[in-house]
Amino acid sequence: MENCIFCKIVRKEIPSTKVYEDDYVYAFKDINPQAKHHVLVIPKQHILSDINDITEDNCFIIGRMFYAAKKISEILGIEKSGVRIINNTGKDAHQTVKHIHIHVLGGQDMGEGLV
Ligand code: AMP
Ligand code: ZN
Repeated sequence: MENCIFCKIVRKEIPSTKVYEDDYVYAFKDINPQAKHHVLVIPKQHILSDINDITEDNCFIIGRMFYAAKKISEILGIEKSGVRIINNTGKDAHQTVKHIHIHVLGGQDMGEGLV
C-alpha cells in the first residue's frame, strides 16, 4: 500500500533494523521499544490491516508470523527465558499502524499483568 509506513519499511523507503526475514514476513526493531527486546513482525504483503481481515484463505500468514517469532526468540537467545507476543487490533487496543503486526517482547521479566 502506497502510504503505509510498514509497506515503506518493506520497500526500504524507510530505514529499519532487520532482525529476521523470510519469503513471507519481515521483522525489525520497534523504534520505541517497550522492553529490552521489542521486535515487530509483519507480512511483507499488505493483505491484512488487522485480525478482522483474517479469512480461511489467508490465515496461513498468521502461522508464518508466529514461526518468525520463534526464530526471532532463538536469534535473540531468549527462547528459554520466554517472550510475550501481542497484537493490537482497533481503537480500544490503540492500534496505530493498520498493517497487521505482532509485537515480540522479551529479554526481561515483563510482569504478570497484560494491561
Ligand atoms: P501498534 O500500536 O500495535 O499499531 O504498533 C505500532 C508500532 O510501530 C509502535 O510500537 C511503534 O513504536 C512502531 N513504529 C512506528 N513507526 C516505526 C518505524 N519507523 N520503525 C520501527 N517501529 C515503528
Ligand atoms: Zn502496509
